[in-house]
Amino acid sequence: MKGSWFLLPATLLMIHSGCEQQQPARQERPAYTLVIHGGAGAIRQSDMSPALDSAYRIKLQEALDSGEVILAGGGSALDAVSAAIRVMEDSPLFNAGKGAVFTHDGTNELDASIMDGRDLQAGAVGGISLARHPIDAARAVMEKSEHVFLTGQGADRFIVEIGLDTVSPDYFFTQRRWDSLLKARQQEEGESGIRSSPDTKFGTVGAVALDQHGHLAAGTSTGGMTNKRWNRLGDSPVIGAGTWADDRSCAVSCTGHGEYFIRYAVAHELAARVRYTSARLEDAARAILEDDLLPVGGLGGLIALDTLGRIAMPFTTDGMYRGFVRPGERVVAIYREE
Ligand code: ASP
Repeated sequence: MKGSWFLLPATLLMIHSGCEQQQPARQERPAYTLVIHGGAGAIRQSDMSPALDSAYRIKLQEALDSGEVILAGGGSALDAVSAAIRVMEDSPLFNAGKGAVFTHDGTNELDASIMDGRDLQAGAVGGISLARHPIDAARAVMEKSEHVFLTGQGADRFIVEIGLDTVSPDYFFTQRRWDSLLKARQQEEGESGIRSSPDTKFGTVGAVALDQHGHLAAGTSTGGMTNKRWNRLGDSPVIGAGTWADDRSCAVSCTGHGEYFIRYAVAHELAARVRYTSARLEDAARAILEDDLLPVGGLGGLIALDTLGRIAMPFTTDGMYRGFVRPGERVVAIYREE
């Protein structure tokens, strides 16, 4: 009797999926898993100096370390996601926090969001300019306000009122991002339309985690797109577009040309396909990026993780800064060939 009880779920699953690659229903899940990204874009090995390549890898490892220590100690997926993202926000290498890109007017407008897979609680900030760690601001919206999404000056006032770590505007100055803005403005002058350099911007950061209690969380943080204007917001702070987490399906964080990720509600779309169809996480993620977004010109990537610890890290750009860690396994990669 006991034997047939255990056999039944796997048998049903194989008939339903008709797919030998489908992992068995009672697969052991890893005690914990953390997956991170540092943005997708025109990232080619030929353009990268060995020193810059290794600086990125060291920082990705550091982000994994900071989240893993929390997960290994039995901490929450939410805390691990926040910790990993804070490390990348503090680095000038990534387009988030310290290394955020500049708007057309030479300012920095930061966006972030976070979601808890246990109960679908979520928080987001858009167009903020004072928080050292936008991901903490998003989390504070979730935990300390009755709202989900705060933007602009109001969000900045909230950040000051609740006492988050704040910085002055010059904290966000980096020569590299300033030069990118000047270049984007020059290009724009030579063209008729207004563009915001979707091909050259990269560095948005994100993390998804599965904790020892079986819960998922996801977070994303960005400076948006170089040369953006009119208080443009991308997908990163939009729950369901750039970020989603639901223990009934998966956790997702996206990077890429935000307008497309919003229109196709990419993060939620992936979670819905996993929840309502027999599609494998990896196949569903690829299908959205390659069959839906790519044909209409939407480039980018995403990281995703389900409650069995299965991972997907697909992208349609040249590269994506990415990595994951689980007990006994750790990977950091940048280029397509890796
Ligand atoms: N998705 C971000 C945005 O559109 C940018 C990126 O991921 O690089 O704002």
